[in-house]
Amino acid sequence: MPSILAVGSVAYDSVKTPFGEAEEVLGGSATFFSVVASFFSRVNLVACVGEDFRREDVEFLESRNVDLTGLEYMKGRTFRWKGEYSYDLNEAHTLETELNVLSNFRPKIPKKYRDSEYVFLGNIDPTLQREVLSQVLNPRLVACDTMNYWIEGRFQSLIKTLKHVGILIINDAEARQLANEVNMVRAARKILGWGPRILVIKRGEYGVLMFQVPGEQSLDHGSSLVVPVSGGDLTIFGAPAYPLEDVFDPTGAGDSFAGGFMGYLAGVNRVDTQAIRQATIFGSVMASFCVEKFSLDRLRELTYTEIELRYKEFREMTRFEDIEELDKVLSS
Ligand code: AMP
Repeated sequence: MPSILAVGSVAYDSVKTPFGEAEEVLGGSATFFSVVASFFSRVNLVACVGEDFRREDVEFLESRNVDLTGLEYMKGRTFRWKGEYSYDLNEAHTLETELNVLSNFRPKIPKKYRDSEYVFLGNIDPTLQREVLSQVLNPRLVACDTMNYWIEGRFQSLIKTLKHVGILIINDAEARQLANEVNMVRAARKILGWGPRILVIKRGEYGVLMFQVPGEQSLDHGSSLVVPVSGGDLTIFGAPAYPLEDVFDPTGAGDSFAGGFMGYLAGVNRVDTQAIRQATIFGSVMASFCVEKFSLDRLRELTYTEIELRYKEFREMTRFEDIEELDKVLSS
């Protein structure tokens, strides 16, 4: 089974939600991604931490299917993020970003990771994301995440990175900001014009929308809805979010989505449309577990049986039959 090369932040997060708060807990884009993806496939983590990184956190990552050869210990403090959510849990308000060791991080890909087929460029400086790609030989699938911090501060660099990305996984606010376009279909079309073949837009409690450029080898079979666009068309696939009664902490939901999505694709070693749609559901399943408790707490105790059961619930939730006698129904 191929493994995934994952790069991104490893952090200590301080988070406040209407339901409680957590101080200096393990977080970071690469952490959520790796822990989730490791349920499906092996993950090779490339990230940096400071001298204050706790032994117990290393041991936790080691206890998962996560290879830490690429985890660099640097002089200084681990990256820190402080955020707050109001009752609208869809939007994180950043109170403080302390880059610390992340500001001097230059990702070095260990030799044994260089022929990685699956690459996930987590939420870091887009220049660093390109540095990672320049060290990888011939990846089969490159997925990428980003956020407002980089869209505002490194727009041109991000556009350069997107040229090399197969799947961009971002949230709706980021898609609007990146494309400078309010309408989601128009935003998708614009973003897909910059390089990615697939754009996955995470919409928090409203689920995900996947936009796909047809015509790419195995990425173009089957379609649920085709929206005509000039010079081609887009294929769209949508999935709801799992309707949860208790959402405690949305931090990491996006990275957990990406972890379930990429983890599944690498696990089955397929990138055809059917697998990509299943991956979208696995991403949604994993994100729904992540938000049930603070930090990585729910993921620490999660079992395969629970994952399988929730996948089946998603199937039931979205399954509907074709209308057999459409003419009669519509003309009556
Ligand atoms: P999300 O999945 O979008 O909720 O991502 C949450 C994680 O992103 C948190 O655990 C933070 O540590 C991390 N994060 C927040 N801001 C940044 C940033 N500017 N660069 C890298 N990672 C970040």
